[in-house]
Amino acid sequence: MVDCIFCKIINGEFGTKFVYEDENVVVFNDINPKADTHLLVVPKKHVTDLNECSEELIAKLMSIVKKVTVQEGIKSYRTVINTGKEAGQEVFHLHIHILSGNIKL
Ligand code: AMP
Repeated sequence: MVDCIFCKIINGEFGTKFVYEDENVVVFNDINPKADTHLLVVPKKHVTDLNECSEELIAKLMSIVKKVTVQEGIKSYRTVINTGKEAGQEVFHLHIHILSGNIKL
């Protein structure tokens, strides 16, 4: 989607390093980390938020949370999904935060 920062990241416009990538999902470091490790799990397809997300996609995203935490050796972590402006969502492209170590969120 035009003017979506995460779509631009997914399209490689900023040269963002992906911690994980497959045909449907990317994972990258949050630019303003709220923990020692702060990753964002993001579908490549532009989906605004959890309200717009299919059961199949959220299941896929959660499976990637598990895969990436194993890959990165993260055993204790918090997952956060902000849905809607009033709940604190700032980027309107669905994402799951993974936070671990000295969590400030
Ligand atoms: P939320 O408040 O749930 O929408 O979270 C959006 C997150 O995206 C925030 O934690 C931001 O720090 C993060 N963010 C915004 N722009 C970028 C970017 N260019 N690269 C990585 N993370 C970003």
